[in-house]
Amino acid sequence: MDLYSVLDLMPAATPADVERAYLRLARRYHPGINPGDRLAAERFRQVQEAYEVLGDPARRQQYDRGQHGRPVATVEATIAFEGFDFSAMAQGAEAATFSEMFADVFQDAARRVIAPDRGASLELAMQVSFEEGVRGGAVPVSVVRQERCAACAGAGVVAVAPVACPACGGQGAARWARGHMVFTKACERCGGSGHMTSAACRACGSSGLQARSEVVTVRIPPGIETHARLVVPGRGHAGSRGGAAGDLYVTIEVRPHAIFRRDGRDLHVTVPVAIHEAALGAKIEVPTLDGPVSLRVPPGTAAGTRLRVRGHGVPSPDNPDAAGDLWVEIQVVLPPVRDERSKALLREFARLNPVDVRAHLFS
Ligand SMILES: [Zn+2]
Ligand SMILES: [Zn+2]
Repeated sequence: MDLYSVLDLMPAATPADVERAYLRLARRYHPGINPGDRLAAERFRQVQEAYEVLGDPARRQQYDRGQHGRPVATVEATIAFEGFDFSAMAQGAEAATFSEMFADVFQDAARRVIAPDRGASLELAMQVSFEEGVRGGAVPVSVVRQERCAACAGAGVVAVAPVACPACGGQGAARWARGHMVFTKACERCGGSGHMTSAACRACGSSGLQARSEVVTVRIPPGIETHARLVVPGRGHAGSRGGAAGDLYVTIEVRPHAIFRRDGRDLHVTVPVAIHEAALGAKIEVPTLDGPVSLRVPPGTAAGTRLRVRGHGVPSPDNPDAAGDLWVEIQVVLPPVRDERSKALLREFARLNPVDVRAHLFS
């Protein structure tokens, strides 16, 4: 369909020609003037579509280059046509275009399509203890979230006894003239009923939302790594106009421990052992997150040796066999040597063991 021929125009038509042709044809085929005439209604629609493109310099240029897509969805004129306002004919020079005539209607139609909005997400940083990081748990945290207003159940309006609509004075309809035509349409404010049965909710300023402090329980899975991000579904801000609530995102920081370190599912701890315990072997107590356990240090244990305490690392709730271990790193320490007897014994030890412990550094 050639848009120029729809408007009875030559491709060289000026913008003013387009306006004039559009006004002339839109009046001729307007459904209000041709009630029940389906052919006229179809022509009216074509005229409108053609004008949407040719009346817009940028879109007309695209069309001329053969690039135009489908015309933008045309808004159906749902207004009632009352007749011509002949007093306005004199202002024909101002040539209100059809788009301008219907500007109110078009805008209202666009505004009426109000989709529910999903609530915004909330971000939160939270510290947990080393033990909570290992074992997991449920940690309560206080958040301030936008909740659905209790007074209006999120609607933003509350029911009131019917009062006359202030916009239309109780008439239920607005009457207005554009260009040469006079129209009526149902009052926007009261939906045509002439009275109002609801008023803006004062509790929430008609937003339908209220800020509220709330305690949310965050479930920490066992073995969570520091900087992990957890999501608590539906605990973000409430949505507006019935939209779903956003989510709550919690970034976890696991606090370090005074003596334990973590590496994946394994825990590490450094345990001092006196020189004689390391040399002769000993049964010592080592700390675990579950309390002290007994550990056998074999005779001749060198400094830096790592001994394993099975199952005392990070637990695995799903698979007990996958639980981590506790690694005990032996640190050999020399107790203070003060008395002469101890010194004599160590001299004796040196005589019996004339080993150069630094030989490997020079070979
Ligand atoms: Zn009204
Ligand atoms: Zn409210």
